[in-house]
Amino acid sequence: MKLGVVGAGAMGQGIVQVAATGGVPVFVFDAMDGAAERGLEQVRARISRLAEKGRLTGDEAGAALDLLHAAASLEDFADCTVVIEAVFEDLDLKQSIFGQLEDIVSDDAILASNTSSLLIASIAKSCRRRERIAGMHFFNPVPLMKLVEVIRGPETSPDVVAVLNDLGRRMGREPVTVKDAPGFLVNHGGRAYTTEAMRILHEQVATAPQIDAVMRECCGFRMGPFELADLTGIDVNYPVSQIVYNGYNQDPRLKTSFPHLSLYEAGRFGRKTGQGTYTYDESGQAASAEKADFVSDANPAGKIHIDRTDDAAEAFFGPLECQIIPDDDGQSPIVAALLGEDCTAYAWRSGIDHRRLVAIDLQCDPSKRVTLMTAPGADPAHRSAVAALVASTGRAVTLIHDSPGFISQRIRAMVANLGCEMAQIGIAEPENIDLAMRLGLNYPLGPLELAEELGLSDTMTVLEHLQAITGEDRYRPSLWLKRRAALGLPIHTAD
Ligand code: NAD
Repeated sequence: MKLGVVGAGAMGQGIVQVAATGGVPVFVFDAMDGAAERGLEQVRARISRLAEKGRLTGDEAGAALDLLHAAASLEDFADCTVVIEAVFEDLDLKQSIFGQLEDIVSDDAILASNTSSLLIASIAKSCRRRERIAGMHFFNPVPLMKLVEVIRGPETSPDVVAVLNDLGRRMGREPVTVKDAPGFLVNHGGRAYTTEAMRILHEQVATAPQIDAVMRECCGFRMGPFELADLTGIDVNYPVSQIVYNGYNQDPRLKTSFPHLSLYEAGRFGRKTGQGTYTYDESGQAASAEKADFVSDANPAGKIHIDRTDDAAEAFFGPLECQIIPDDDGQSPIVAALLGEDCTAYAWRSGIDHRRLVAIDLQCDPSKRVTLMTAPGADPAHRSAVAALVASTGRAVTLIHDSPGFISQRIRAMVANLGCEMAQIGIAEPENIDLAMRLGLNYPLGPLELAEELGLSDTMTVLEHLQAITGEDRYRPSLWLKRRAALGLPIHTAD
């Protein structure tokens, strides 16, 4: 095995490093004078640091360093088994490089692109032997990101996919075979988390700090959607959103909202520009953001009526210093743990007094933070009293405007639904969709696992209420989810 890498930029260097530490002899070429050698210097320094930290033994580091070579031209790739291209994201440039490589390498050599947004079919279009063209999509920073998507173009042969999977494993990565499609797997699946958060912000249901706090503290995500977008960069994630949305013929499930465009146009790209949704100081600390918590100065409610026979609400309020009255007395706050509905629809359907209704989200972890929601025209005294009651237990309170599915149900149902849709259209094996989303985006659970954890029927209920209340196709459940929920099957059940 001999690997060639074209492009010694951020990604090329990472690919070269994991190849060498995986025992693969690697040659790197860059069109810019001295760039290949400079890139290798960086790689050598990183490998030496790994040895200093004890992550590699001295022998392992020495062996890896011996496998690193700069190529003077593409001609040096004549006897490469595999060449991975990692130059600028430009279709004409990539097609031209693949054309040159076809004239240089042997007939059975494999040519792979690390493109993040171009279709492999588009790159292969100009090639003579399309069955050996594939994608090998690494994530940044490569040495830290275990996932590699092996992209199977429409004409890629199964043998080529198998060799690239083996190579990925040799490089210490976790390869997942993915269909050639807009955004491949992770950049497609990641749309739901960002775009639904943007949508909630756009509708003024909640602020960005509120949304981030709920997703981190109640749903186990390491970063909130706005924190994550600021980290990856709005200059990257806004165009990716548009590529995926347009690539899927403007499926409303994938649509982003105006706040995303607004950040992009303002050049507020996130950490890299010092300002995105949040403002960062020189040390990278987010300056004190708007407060996510509602602080009530009212006395805790002494009496509440729980409108819906709901074990979760009874279990939550039961131990608190508050009397739970069995019937509405016409004056106490009415609490309801809603699933997918907003306060307005619920009050209208059940005929209760919307002014005294305080909805609570108990579909996520309420141990640190609790989300409360009221309808337009709600009496502030009731929500303040319920908020004070919740706060008396030491929990933070997030108070939001009326919305089907609060924050957590909405975003998690959309993440789960998009994962199900990716399974439906065969982006990858269902288990691999979960694996890739956990490794590529640090999600606590993959999207199908999330559907299973929330319960298929509850996930369907949230989506159906969202679709009915907003009247939007954005929330239509994937047939993958709908069928498995209807038949009572585990979500990973194959077709
Ligand atoms: P980069 O700008 O850091 O590096 C690109 C390198 O390619 C530069 O060193 C440049 O001199 C070299 N180059 C340009 N034209 C060349 C040519 N004709 N021949 C040889 N070398 C040439 O870019 P990057 O961030 O490493 O991205 C490279 C590819 O990887 C892109 O397709 C990008 O979409 C993809 N990708 C990037 C990321 C990321 O987060 N940066 C993640 C996944 C995939």
